[in-house]
Amino acid sequence: MSGEKLEFKDRVVVVTGAGGGLGKVYALEYAKRGAKVVVNDLGGSLGGSGGSTRAADVVVEEIKKNGGVAVANYDSVNEHGEKIIQTAIDNFGRIDVLINNAGILRDVSFAKMSAKEFGSVVDVHLNGGYKLCKAAWPHMLSQKFGRIINTASPAGLYGNFGQANYSAAKLGLVGMAETLAKEGYKYNIRVNAIAPLARSRMTENVLPPHILKQLGPEKIVPLVLFLTHESTQVTNSIFELAAGFYGQIRWERSSGQIFNPNPETFTPEAILNKWESITDFRDKSFNKVQHPVQLSDYNDLITKAKKL
Ligand code: NAD
Repeated sequence: MSGEKLEFKDRVVVVTGAGGGLGKVYALEYAKRGAKVVVNDLGGSLGGSGGSTRAADVVVEEIKKNGGVAVANYDSVNEHGEKIIQTAIDNFGRIDVLINNAGILRDVSFAKMSAKEFGSVVDVHLNGGYKLCKAAWPHMLSQKFGRIINTASPAGLYGNFGQANYSAAKLGLVGMAETLAKEGYKYNIRVNAIAPLARSRMTENVLPPHILKQLGPEKIVPLVLFLTHESTQVTNSIFELAAGFYGQIRWERSSGQIFNPNPETFTPEAILNKWESITDFRDKSFNKVQHPVQLSDYNDLITKAKKL
């Protein structure tokens, strides 16, 4: 693959929330590389209120001015996600790549967070992502090709003050990506999650200017295009990226402790006594948990436990 330009000629790409920030730079680059792009954005505020067709229209105009092919869609991902995929089908006849990128913030400490503040953020990110995936899925299955990116966040992986709603939604998108990666594998559907950090209206008031300067959204684009190219087989993976740094994230499992399930001895006190080994990550051979423990592994563990 080295030296080869990664083209997207005739591929149909849907980017949600592509009227600004990261989504816009993805849409422009896909179009530059030959893709037909659905530029979705409802054009609302950072908190999700209001709406305007302008945000998506400006990006479509720019793509067309550069000789590319694009169409605007103004639907809300969580309300009418299926119409966004239908826009791709109606205009271009297929859907190859889906970038679940649309999002809002309603940051507030958990003590003060209302059910509405929690629910609306989960709704846009997680239910929005679900609606797009659900509508694209049958097309991807039947054409035996699909590439999906779910946009997570460092806040989802690690937590962040004031973002219980956002981090819950973002880690939900990781779990969904991991399951779709498994269900889509034999249909050549590859699904990954990214946790970016970039300059946009989401970060411009929370990070200092000298940091923001390094965080150009264009620095996120190369990985997104690489992961969604037809030649890429990477799937079921999470990447964290910012300012030109790209790294993979993975879950780790400690070497753990096997207990004899005898109720007399398998007690909370036994857990306390063995806490150090339960949480011991020193043996790296146990740490690579790219796939969940298989049932056969559990059987093995149970057999070992009974012998203790
Ligand atoms: P942004 O606010 O510039 O972009 C989000 C876009 O989504 C906006 O244009 C907005 O109008 C659109 N949108 C919001 N709700 C929508 C809905 N219901 N339907 C359709 N469109 C909707 O912010 P951004 O930084 O470019 O964020 C893009 C994605 O990256 C988001 O999912 C965000 O959570 C994620 N992210 C960003 C950062 C960062 O550092 N900027 C960090 C982690 C994750």
